[in-house]
Amino acid sequence: MLTIDRFSNQHEYREFCRRSEPELRRRFRLEQRLAAGQLPFTVAGHCDICAREVAFAVDFEAAGGVSPECVPNWRERVICPSCGLNARMRAAVCMAKAHLPHDQGPIYVTERKTPLFAALESLGWNIVGSEYLGDQVELGGRDATGVRNEDLTRLTFPSGSFGGVISLDVLEHVPDYGSALGELARVLVEGGGLLLSAPFRADRTRHLVRARRADDEIEYLEPPEHHDDPTDPAGCLAWYHFGWEILENLRAAGFSGARACLYWSERLGCFGPEQFLFEAMKTPR
Ligand SMILES: [Zn+2]
Repeated sequence: MLTIDRFSNQHEYREFCRRSEPELRRRFRLEQRLAAGQLPFTVAGHCDICAREVAFAVDFEAAGGVSPECVPNWRERVICPSCGLNARMRAAVCMAKAHLPHDQGPIYVTERKTPLFAALESLGWNIVGSEYLGDQVELGGRDATGVRNEDLTRLTFPSGSFGGVISLDVLEHVPDYGSALGELARVLVEGGGLLLSAPFRADRTRHLVRARRADDEIEYLEPPEHHDDPTDPAGCLAWYHFGWEILENLRAAGFSGARACLYWSERLGCFGPEQFLFEAMKTPR
């Protein structure tokens, strides 16, 4: 039900856009019709997590200001009233269901205090979650509420601990994202699968570096962008918006079959142009 088109590089995606122009235009027109009222609205569809028909809630929050051309944030809104997951999270669960191995060990989710983790738990998945809690708790330890502390650049799990990894919108908050990818590969079994999302610019070959460390300071190359963080009310700085280079980073970190996956589905409430998740497999030796 989720339409997925996969690309190994930017060239393949450009070719796809040329070839699929009528379909992409059809999707865009449908989205324009849905949002034409410029007021919060609902759209009927099917939540794959709740396994029932629902009215997804769409508003114009985080939509970049109100203007005549204002479009909803299709990625972060379109929320299921029952499980609370947005379109990006529901698409990730759909893909994880179909494409991650579920019989090779638990699945590591790089978040714990979120509706996504709760939803996967309610589905009965064998999962392990963590948050980055800084110095409050030792790495690998748990806070008073039982949440495990992990730093993606130096995970405390033994190598080959997991059959799959789901990491959604975390990587852009890790300055040394290359080390994080290496660690995610290390903790997977050979042939284990990774499902990743992060802010992605399909028009860019190279990453957009928004901020970098200069001595002990943070140097901002773009206006500071903070994302919601369940462990910090101040939010979390996004150091990057990734470009197609991310696929090379995945290969360098020990993954094969790295693909950008474009997803869309009217029925599942997954709208918007250029909505991507990334999949890769730990290269078997
Ligand atoms: Zn739901």
